Amino acid sequence: MSEPTTSQPASLVSQSRQGNVLVLTVNNPPVNAFSPGVPEGFHAGLDVAEKDSSVAAVVIIGGGRTFIAGADIKTFDMPREQAPDLRGFISRLDHFPKPVVAAIHGAALGGGFEIALACNYRVAAPGAKVGLPEVKLGVLPGAGGTQRLPRLIGVDKALVMMLGGNPIDAAEAARLGIVDELIEGDLLAGAVKFAANHADARPLPRVSERKVENVDPKMLMDIRNNLKNTHKGQLAPGYIVDLAEIASTKSFTDGWAAEARLFMMAKDSPQSRSLRHLFFADRERAKIPGITRETPVGQIKSVGVIGAGTMGGGIAMNFLNVGLPVTIVETQQDALDRGIATIRKNYENTAKKGRITQDDVEKRIALLTPTLRMEDLKDADLIIEAVFENMDVKKDIFGKLDKVAKPGAILASNTSTLDVNEIAAVTKRPESVIGLHFFSPANVMKLLEIVRADKTSETVLATSLDMAKKIGKVGVVVGVCNGFVGNRMLVPYRDQAQYMVLHGANPQDVDAAMHALGMPMGPFEMSDMAGLDIGYASRREAAKKAGTTVESDWSDKLVEMGRKGQKTQGGIYDYPDGRKPVPSPVTEKMISDYRAEKGVTPRKFGQEEATKRLAYGLMNEGAKILEEGVALRSSDIDVIYVNGYGFPAYRGGPMQYASEQGLKNVVKDLESYGVTPAPLLKKLADEGKTFAQYDAERAKASK
Ligand code: NAD
Repeated sequence: MSEPTTSQPASLVSQSRQGNVLVLTVNNPPVNAFSPGVPEGFHAGLDVAEKDSSVAAVVIIGGGRTFIAGADIKTFDMPREQAPDLRGFISRLDHFPKPVVAAIHGAALGGGFEIALACNYRVAAPGAKVGLPEVKLGVLPGAGGTQRLPRLIGVDKALVMMLGGNPIDAAEAARLGIVDELIEGDLLAGAVKFAANHADARPLPRVSERKVENVDPKMLMDIRNNLKNTHKGQLAPGYIVDLAEIASTKSFTDGWAAEARLFMMAKDSPQSRSLRHLFFADRERAKIPGITRETPVGQIKSVGVIGAGTMGGGIAMNFLNVGLPVTIVETQQDALDRGIATIRKNYENTAKKGRITQDDVEKRIALLTPTLRMEDLKDADLIIEAVFENMDVKKDIFGKLDKVAKPGAILASNTSTLDVNEIAAVTKRPESVIGLHFFSPANVMKLLEIVRADKTSETVLATSLDMAKKIGKVGVVVGVCNGFVGNRMLVPYRDQAQYMVLHGANPQDVDAAMHALGMPMGPFEMSDMAGLDIGYASRREAAKKAGTTVESDWSDKLVEMGRKGQKTQGGIYDYPDGRKPVPSPVTEKMISDYRAEKGVTPRKFGQEEATKRLAYGLMNEGAKILEEGVALRSSDIDVIYVNGYGFPAYRGGPMQYASEQGLKNVVKDLESYGVTPAPLLKKLADEGKTFAQYDAERAKASK
């Protein structure tokens, strides 16, 4: 799939003659998407080729760095009459009387690859890639891909490409018979020569006329059954399997018609809207007020990490993985040794799985300098603190860092809740201080909340964003508040979970309500994994700050008896085999005692109500965060939840999910649960808007 483009003119396809071959070059930078104007240009070219008897063959090629990298996703929501007619163009190609050769370099993805499949021949540069990534946007190849690819390479291999959505390289494409010839050197010259050599080939080879043979019904059934593991809860993958089966049992014409019907159903589904929302959200998140192309971006050549515990070790690995030297500081030799041993063990496990070599392990470890001296951080360009979550400890460290770190070094805290402004204030260079909130395990989780404090400089912010990209993280800029975006939203989420248990639900029913939404874990499974003692301590810390106290509820009482979660083989659930949660009689009794103590008559909560209470609990806090400006856009909140908390991408994130339900309905539901809707939510509901519309209006106003 391509990035959207906005250019409209009809001259997006140029024509040139090379002997008896007409070359049609699409020029729609940056990725030659199939935008309005492109089909018109192609048809004009085919008109010439059809009428001019001196044209014996046609070559289609991309100008610039790529072939047609896909349909223009922005056109998905256009009325059908206005959207570029890819199927119409492909149909014409399929019936064209003269040979057409697709000359592929860069990427031929989605609609671009479907065009290539409808040509009579395909040639490619060795670095080219082809693929059908539609499934990632909740749709299916809708312009013949589901019917042609199985005919060309077989149903099994076509399904691997269509369900995985990942491109393959030209050599593999040639091996599979997708590409007829690999062309070293000048692609256009090679393609023209190929076209001239095949100018007289008759009958013309057409993929649509091929037959798929020997499809094992068991293979199809296995793939279909496995979808619940590979694509749980999703519509489009099932349609793709249906269509691949149709390709093997029905005529091309029947398959072509079925594909159009299922494509529209997938495209108009909330799932596809949500996945497309995330596609654009991912592009929006890098747009930060005050950051322009001109904002200087610093170079990170060496990194310091303070604390070699759970987070510090994982954070260090991110930089070692991309070849950056890391100095890691601890207070005690044994803690340091333990931290380094864990890093090594992690790498060795990866090597055992064959994902890196033993040589890689040694190279990475060699980049790591363990030390007990803060002074050894004096040359680091970026220093990330990951010590205990305690303000006094952090202040002490930042005070020391201020003296040790070189001028211009970025001083970051991995705090998950504390006030980064307060931390910055102990230094004489608050402009250099930023929050870099990694998620656990820090070497695995994609999300990075980049916490912009009041005085953080634009360069420090831009450098952090750039760094996030280099280490493969999804960086989202957020503001300072307790818990930032992601963890703050968990507070009302947890409150709803606790409320339901107090009033009659089982923890496992509450967790099941989030599984029903597609989350891998519900709130109680998540707390058991994180450690119940963490929330226990932070709630008490917050209360102390506010001058109040916390009354222990049933789950706090579990902590007090030593049941802290997975790490103690028991928390809310029991873990007889270490990882798999099993309902616990201890917890059950604790809950029923607590209900009795509170004089509660238990009632039932249906799954739908439970799911809504939880999901809307997240979203309602998200709306407050948005209104406060702690998140720049609702789509940033969605990116955070999908990349850091396991919210299923096909639901789009909590904000998009609520928009899909209709914000008016959401407000009504929240009120019926006794929850006050956030003012912004209420306002949007009254105006009949969605969060995405709110984002778009604000983006427009800030231009
Ligand atoms: P941890 O207890 O595993 O590790 C903290 C390490 O810091 C320990 O090894 C300790 O010896 C070391 N340390 C303490 N004081 C030090 C000092 N003055 N100098 C050098 N080292 C010192 O804790 P963690 O889970 O890695 O958390 C670290 C930070 O990351 C906290 O601020 C926490 O809130 C945050 N965080 C944790 C998670 C998580 O899931 N664990 C997620 C995101 C952020």
